[in-house]
Amino acid sequence: MIENKKKTERLALSILILLILLCVLGLWLFNRNADASFPDQARLNVVVEIKGQQIYSVPLSEDNELVASSDLGENIIEIKGGSVCVKEADCPNQICVHTVPITAPGRSIICLPHRMVVSIVDATLK
Ligand SMILES: [Zn+2]
Repeated sequence: MIENKKKTERLALSILILLILLCVLGLWLFNRNADASFPDQARLNVVVEIKGQQIYSVPLSEDNELVASSDLGENIIEIKGGSVCVKEADCPNQICVHTVPITAPGRSIICLPHRMVVSIVDATLK
């Protein structure tokens, strides 16, 4: 009986230590993300979806060129200097190509004929 109580106490102590460690780790990660010296753009990702499926998630801070193609058609997305635009597309209406480049989270470019959405998301909110 006494043996059992000791075991339980030891288990409780281990769990407590584990919880404290997790808290410390969580706090450390949180502080790292909230670091003010981090440039804002480093936290933003460009997400490309076709038919509701994510095909790209890349940092906005790095210049890039993405090709989003499906059976519906192709869009070439350009990331340059912290802004995103559709450079080329073979859709009939070309609305996506004429959409003003986006730079802020919550903004998106939509190509309806290709069912493609390019959006900027805050990676730390995920
Ligand atoms: Zn389009």
